[in-house]
Amino acid sequence: MTPTPRRTTSDDAAARRPQPVRRVDLLGLSADEIAALGALDGAPRFRAAQVFRWLHRQRARSLAAMSNLPLELRSRLDGEVEIAVADVLREERSEDGSTKAVLRLADGRVVESVLIREKSKRTLCVSTQVGCAVGCVFCATGAAGLGRHLTAGEILRQVYDAEERLERESPGERLTNVVLMGMGEPLHNFEATRRALVNLTARAGRGLSPRRLTVSTSGYPERIGGLAREGPHVRLAISLTAATDELRTRLIPLNRRYPIASLVEAGAYYERTTRSRVTFEYVLLQGINDSRDDARRLGRLLRGRRVNLIPLNPHPYSTMKPPADETVELFHRSLKESGVISTVRWSKGRDIQAACGQLAARS
Ligand code: SAH
Ligand code: SF4
Repeated sequence: MTPTPRRTTSDDAAARRPQPVRRVDLLGLSADEIAALGALDGAPRFRAAQVFRWLHRQRARSLAAMSNLPLELRSRLDGEVEIAVADVLREERSEDGSTKAVLRLADGRVVESVLIREKSKRTLCVSTQVGCAVGCVFCATGAAGLGRHLTAGEILRQVYDAEERLERESPGERLTNVVLMGMGEPLHNFEATRRALVNLTARAGRGLSPRRLTVSTSGYPERIGGLAREGPHVRLAISLTAATDELRTRLIPLNRRYPIASLVEAGAYYERTTRSRVTFEYVLLQGINDSRDDARRLGRLLRGRRVNLIPLNPHPYSTMKPPADETVELFHRSLKESGVISTVRWSKGRDIQAACGQLAARS
């Protein structure tokens, strides 16, 4: 929460100059933190719970929508907090039923979220940053660098608005899963990501089971440890994509700081501490990490662990290509022979640039 600074007389000259208004991100607060807001001073205790329900159950986009709150309380809140909004600039539908929403945030920045329809599953892939600082050479998001972190509210807004659109289009349907695999590196934006996860799983709010939430990361082992200790115990995906540090550093520059061994160890710690599943992601790149030797090395590294193989989704920001289907199959078989629980994940939404690593939100 952004603390409200107390002003002293010596600050008066500065205070008279127009200041950008920095208000508290209401969607990112817990019910206890809402209760501690100045605006709720002296209000009955149940008001904070009421506000929390309006935000996370009724998906209220404004204080005005909170019709059973006293007007005076709403206007006091209005001076202290803001509720994240996102306008749909456009929606694109893939042949496979996935839909990509291009969203404009309050400051005009653009991010994307993708709804994936698979049998009875309805999975929303959400963004945690505008762009990304990690700069993986095979990823369209990384090509732009980091614009800025999203707030917890902006992460949650993507979920609540997508659920509303889904219910409108297909009455009776709800999201079953949420994956933080859109634009950005969730653990680089740890605080906002954790707040969003906490509120999304809160019983008094949306109440999504942590098992139906996945955080995907390219690094940050200490933060993996932090998530294990602090919770919520969501599923974790670690994007490895190389079995040697030399190659991984070329593909994912963050590897210089957090090499492979530190991530494999953080994954094992996460599994032990949370008893929640960890999956390693491996993007298959033709001629770069798809040889028999690569498969054997990965097999030795991850014996007994789960691996998702993702054949590269091509995009205009890289000349890399996915391997031929037979190479993918050989790689998969070799991993299985080494005792890895391997799955090939053919991405959805490739035709509308909505698949893993294709989100660029340039327009
Ligand atoms: N920053 C996080 C989450 C977003 S990327 C991370 O890197 O894990 C989500 C997944 O898409 C990651 O596993 C990443 O390796 C993969 N990915 C990135 N670019 C890709 C591409 N062009 N084709 C296929 N997968 C890609
Ligand atoms: Fe960032 Fe993930 Fe893309 Fe790498 S793969 S640049 S960490 S979004």
